[in-house]
Amino acid sequence: MEIVEGKRIFNGIVIGKPYIDNKKNIEIKCYDISEDEIEDEIDRLKTAVEAAKLEIKHLKESLKGRIKKEELQILVVHKMLLEDPQFMSDIKKAVKLEKKNVEYIVRKVADKYIIMFESLYDPIYKQRALDIKDISERIIYNLVFLSSTYKELEGKILIGKELFPSELLKIYYSGIKLGGIILEYAGETSHTAILAKAMEIPTIMGVKNLFEVNWGELLILDTVSEEPRIINDPDEKTLKIYEEKAKKFKKATEEIEKSINLPSVTLDKEEIDLYINLGGRLDITEINKKNPQGIGLLRTELIYMDNDEFPSEEKQMKLYEKIAEDFGKKKPIIIRTLDIGADKNLPYYAMEPEENPSLGCRGIRFTLSNRDIFKTQLKAILRASIDNEIKIMYPMVTTVKEIRESKKLLIQCKEELKEEGIAYREEIEVGIMIEVPSVVLLAETFAKEVDFFSIGTNDLTQYILATDRFSEAVHDIYNSLDPAVLKAVDIVAQAGKKFNKKVSVCGEMAGDEIGALALMSLGIKNLSMIPSSIPKIRNLVRKIEFKKLGQLREKILESLSPKEVKEILEEYLKNL
Ligand code: PEP
Ligand code: MG
Repeated sequence: MEIVEGKRIFNGIVIGKPYIDNKKNIEIKCYDISEDEIEDEIDRLKTAVEAAKLEIKHLKESLKGRIKKEELQILVVHKMLLEDPQFMSDIKKAVKLEKKNVEYIVRKVADKYIIMFESLYDPIYKQRALDIKDISERIIYNLVFLSSTYKELEGKILIGKELFPSELLKIYYSGIKLGGIILEYAGETSHTAILAKAMEIPTIMGVKNLFEVNWGELLILDTVSEEPRIINDPDEKTLKIYEEKAKKFKKATEEIEKSINLPSVTLDKEEIDLYINLGGRLDITEINKKNPQGIGLLRTELIYMDNDEFPSEEKQMKLYEKIAEDFGKKKPIIIRTLDIGADKNLPYYAMEPEENPSLGCRGIRFTLSNRDIFKTQLKAILRASIDNEIKIMYPMVTTVKEIRESKKLLIQCKEELKEEGIAYREEIEVGIMIEVPSVVLLAETFAKEVDFFSIGTNDLTQYILATDRFSEAVHDIYNSLDPAVLKAVDIVAQAGKKFNKKVSVCGEMAGDEIGALALMSLGIKNLSMIPSSIPKIRNLVRKIEFKKLGQLREKILESLSPKEVKEILEEYLKNL
């Protein structure tokens, strides 16, 4: 029995079998194929090579600025090898000649190359042998993984170095329910983490040296205890204790769920509106059971990720209408325009490589420089809004100029729709995400420009603290409870109050008990979160006195560290 610790992403206790996503040394079978199946095998090869290229592209983008340029160069070489005509043609020829399955052939051909390169004296060739091993295993992984259509993952605890948001979406869309996720990668507000939470998959991230552990047949994933942990190969006694713990946890969760239809009001009758953050095709009927007030953030980039090309105006319009219909016509829906860049990329669009993608062309900067894409989306939103309570929200806004440009573009979209004789909604509320310090500092100026604010504390934290939200190295600094971040929230809340503009928070902290308390102490009354957090936060709201909590505001803002803020609020929570 061995205990490994990591960071809690989504709560749960799971006892289950691991699926080790080691992308290395995968066991492969060798079987005969018929003459008729040769073309199919070659098609499988093409798909797997394309997937491998995409992975390298994503990896390269996500590592940019975090590792040395020379190290990044390895990925360039890998991509070149994947496009190498000799290597590919050797594989295809061997499939035709030997009539064996393609994964077997890939390994066989790769081994031939590896032996050849290893036998050469020059260290450059030894490195080439390693490169061939790496890319061939990547292709094999995709061949095995893609063809198994994720079936093997059903109910298992996925253990891996990292997992791309698009990969997690693919697993989810194939109807597979993962038991749990354990990753070496640390970003707790990364989009993989956000999706894992939205899908309600118990998850631990930031587990160091994951592949040095000798994973056994059975694991316990416990993200409920004070110290989130994984128990590898539990003994009988531990297993019994955890079976009991899992039952208790389930019961406690069901108890909280009972408050679902009760109003979200504090003891002193302040209404706190609870909204959901939605991305991808999640099950809206299930979400509706949590009784949210509306959708506070529709992450449309996940809809774009779910397509093979930029979705057309018509397609987007139908999708937005469908979401509104499934969700209940009267409830407000805030559609955030495409927010790609940093860790969110589209499989069919190559972003310009940048040294520092988090500070680069992302969010509204991208859409303003790709106006056709922007206009298609704005028109789709305008059309879908006719009978629905839809609002538009722009991400990553930094300057007033961006707002004014977007407003002009929106007017242009309306005019074009009118000319085309297509019905749309004339009056539509427009708001912005507050994620960048410049907007906090000029919150009063921006309040005059827009209808509402939604504070994206995930990004705001990274930009206020100048700390990459995905970096493991500076992870200890990244904390939304940092007094500097809370001061920024406070400035925005005050500006909203002064100009009578609604202020909500849609960053991850809104769905966390201590985070929500911090926000409410600053006067925030609109919280948007992953659906699974709604019952827990509603339960919390019903126990507090808003005014009394507000008395902690000064103490919190004068705190010297996130730890101090947390202690103040934990003490408050304990006494409820
Ligand atoms: C945020 O930055 O807080 C936010 C909600 O946007 P995202 O997590 O999608 O970047
Ligand atoms: Mg953001």
